[in-house]
Amino acid sequence: MAEEAQGPRTGPVLGVFAHPDDAEIAAGGVLAKWAAAGREVHLLILTNGDRGSQDPSASREELAATRRVETEAAAGVMGVASVRVLSTHDGELENTTIVREAVTRRIREVRAETVISVDPTAVFFENRYYNHSDHRTAGWIALDSCCPGSGNPHFFSEQLGEGLETQDVYDVWLGWSNEPNRTEDISGFFETKIAALAKHDSQLTEGIRFFDEFLRKEAVESGAKIGVEHAEEFRVLDLS
Ligand SMILES: [Zn+2]
Repeated sequence: MAEEAQGPRTGPVLGVFAHPDDAEIAAGGVLAKWAAAGREVHLLILTNGDRGSQDPSASREELAATRRVETEAAAGVMGVASVRVLSTHDGELENTTIVREAVTRRIREVRAETVISVDPTAVFFENRYYNHSDHRTAGWIALDSCCPGSGNPHFFSEQLGEGLETQDVYDVWLGWSNEPNRTEDISGFFETKIAALAKHDSQLTEGIRFFDEFLRKEAVESGAKIGVEHAEEFRVLDLS
């Protein structure tokens, strides 16, 4: 309601995701759309993705380095202004003060008005799949860093001493939700989402085709709900 009254938001965005390719899969269309509209979009990836391989002989260190390069390339495709990858090991993400300090710092640094992540309450997807622990944890970390966090001077007050200011986050968008309340038109940006995802070569042992087909079907079905070609669905919280 508030957004309709004032038009779409135009301020900076911070994406907070667990793994290097989560942003593209969950929200690549809307991230590209916002960047094309002139919003400054920044990404903070909370783990280095060093377990994203079924090859027992793969070096986790090398995989992390490869995934960092892929993440930067994918961000470039989406028009993202900056991407940072924390050094936490894949599969070991915990909602700690140290991680919330890093997220709160980034929200304050980029003056994020919108934070986009994934829904931490989504555990089971039908009877076929359950959500990765890192994904659920990333969602809670994102929410807990916004409120109470970035807007409160008593949270990580040492950052204020370094010249940063408190930052109120106005809205939070959560992908991979079982309770979406927003179907966002991404027509014209679906191909960008796939082109960005295609940069994550280390994760595409069977090529991009699986993701292309799966995500296209999902985007078309979501789009049909609002009469557009492609859409992504989110649970959007208005904190303003
Ligand atoms: Zn993931």
